[in-house]
Amino acid sequence: MKKIVIDLDGVIRNLGIIFDKLNISTPTTWFWKHKNKDIYDWVAIDYNILLKAKPTKFFPIIKKYCGKNTIEIWSHQPKDWQPYTKQWIKKYIKNKVKIRWFTTDQKYKELKKRKDTILIEDSPNFPSYKQIILIDEPYNQKAKAKIRIRTPKELEKVLKSKCIAKIMEYEMRKDEKTAVGDVR
Ligand SMILES: [Mg+2]
Repeated sequence: MKKIVIDLDGVIRNLGIIFDKLNISTPTTWFWKHKNKDIYDWVAIDYNILLKAKPTKFFPIIKKYCGKNTIEIWSHQPKDWQPYTKQWIKKYIKNKVKIRWFTTDQKYKELKKRKDTILIEDSPNFPSYKQIILIDEPYNQKAKAKIRIRTPKELEKVLKSKCIAKIMEYEMRKDEKTAVGDVR
């Protein structure tokens, strides 16, 4: 059985509250600036926004999948975000949580070491998506992910499958554009 680990922002925490506040739509690029300020500058104005951010629509499915097991989170958070993020996790997750503050690079290296592990992610910056389930967002359209999740139902379908490994292999042989909805 594959071990599932999860990214935080864009997977279980919805930072869309920042875009709403700025009155902009979700950016189509990973690195973006609004009025010459990037996401870190905007969050630094009021860190409580990290606490106010709601869980994503995928969060209930992930929670259901994890049951009472320990939830392992791999997230890249600047030092000044971490206390707020820890509070957010405490507020929404009752399970035991193992959190690792990994950069994309560290996540990728760890995945390569742990062949039995699958990461649920929203970042478009991985060299390969072989062990990644990607949450579809406007800013990750160019990522060559074989499993791209658009709805909670799709995620549930993939997680419910007892052989995610097989799905990954199967998907790899298929056209990149094929939606996960086609997996049987
Ligand atoms: Mg993320």
